[in-house]
Amino acid sequence: MFRLRRSINCDHNATTPVSLGVRKAMVKELAGSQANASTPYREGRKAAFLVSQARLALAKALTAEPESLIFTSGATEANNCLRTIAKLLPSDRRTIIYNPMEHPSVLEPLKLLGSEGFTLIEAKPDCLGRIEADHLRELWTVQVSLLVMMAANNETGTFYDLKAIVRLAHERGALVFSDMVQALGKTRVDLGALEVDYASFSAHKIYGPKGIGVLYIRPGAPFAPLIVGGSQESGLRAGTECLHNLAGFGQACREIPGLLEKIPDLRRRKEHFIDQIKAELPTVRINTPSGEESQPGTVSLTLAGFENSHLLGQLDYHGLEVAAGSACRTGANEPSHVLLAIGLSPEEARSTLRVSFGHNLTDGQLKYVISIFKMILSGRESGAITVVRPGELTEELVFSKNISIIHIKRYPKFKGPSPLPTSRVIALGDKVAWEALKPSGPLLLTCDVGYDAPIMAWSLKRRGFKELSFLAAGLWGLKIAQPDLWTRLRSADNYALIKARDHIDAP
Ligand code: PMP
Repeated sequence: MFRLRRSINCDHNATTPVSLGVRKAMVKELAGSQANASTPYREGRKAAFLVSQARLALAKALTAEPESLIFTSGATEANNCLRTIAKLLPSDRRTIIYNPMEHPSVLEPLKLLGSEGFTLIEAKPDCLGRIEADHLRELWTVQVSLLVMMAANNETGTFYDLKAIVRLAHERGALVFSDMVQALGKTRVDLGALEVDYASFSAHKIYGPKGIGVLYIRPGAPFAPLIVGGSQESGLRAGTECLHNLAGFGQACREIPGLLEKIPDLRRRKEHFIDQIKAELPTVRINTPSGEESQPGTVSLTLAGFENSHLLGQLDYHGLEVAAGSACRTGANEPSHVLLAIGLSPEEARSTLRVSFGHNLTDGQLKYVISIFKMILSGRESGAITVVRPGELTEELVFSKNISIIHIKRYPKFKGPSPLPTSRVIALGDKVAWEALKPSGPLLLTCDVGYDAPIMAWSLKRRGFKELSFLAAGLWGLKIAQPDLWTRLRSADNYALIKARDHIDAP
């Protein structure tokens, strides 16, 4: 039996829905000639004009010179330019100070630079993710020539005082690279006043399309292209321009003033949400600075006694989309590096949710969100799904004829632990296989890390499945909790037991 689904996206830091205006601009562009902007004839010149209009819209939104902006395939690519920028630093000053709460698209290039001989100095955030210029001053050495500091953190919502940080770096002759993805649309961005040297942005965080971003390079700052080929973007980033994405990004930028107007209401709603959660669960820990020190719609909550993976499934069951960390890391085994950096234990990190409301959240929607959170946190939600702790799984259960086991693979080619020998494997995104699955007796869901099994269990419950259970903490959790069982399950003797089962492949 299907239930009516009310859906409220509370995960706007992962991405935002494309606005109506953006959609219209993109469709108009797709319906046009889609000429190559590098060609000289009329349609090509029209395409080049569109590129310049998008650049102007962006320049206006960022208070920057149009010539200082190069379009990229997203912020990930813009952040990867760190790799070429760093190579231009003086050879005797190859030390970089960075914020350990950066997005993986910053941390991974930095790691590569570290392996290539650069010295990396990690700043230490406080328990709300803040890093003051005074702390950076203490870390400073004469070899530092680059400071990498985001403008807003995607998990805690913390804003950084970039102005003071840039001033400090410039006084010491260092450059500043800032991932400003999570600041745009959530606070006024004025690159001219900020004087940061490099900044990255992404369209899909401001109700624009995915697959397009921009790198700002302050006039005069050294730069070498990461992607070479044709002479697009003044030779600084090769590749034929994606016109519909550019049309969408330009329009999203034109809509930024409207987003900024909504900030006070968004902040008021977030604060009301926090107050209501505190009233229900006084032990909640808020990892987000209050007031103007954080993004208006974001809050990170540590809910002791609750596992975020299970909460994600329960909330999804009621149509609420929230995150357990950053969307880019949900497939990973480790707890969020951001939460560990602010001092949470791995246990606390696994009890932490990120809620990020959108600018269009209404009071009515918020009321529903609060009612669902309260129902779950107070234990009033029926516990119809059985949680099998990694320490509780037995051989009997694994080889029982009375239960079907499905192992969920997040990425079909991703190396993970081998599934339980009696399980059928279904990829998380295999819609056809999931839809073909019909309720037929008890079902145990497993996954690698522990995030996908609960969410799919709650999703199957919506479809009328009963007698559902899932393995908490995934197969990695089982390996840690019961190494002997783990080894036995891999032994050849098990084939006899597997054969004894008659419904292993039953969907
Ligand atoms: N930096 C931050 C802070 C982000 O939140 C994201 C998106 N999760 C990115 C970079 C990557 O942006 P994109 O999806 O455009 O590659």
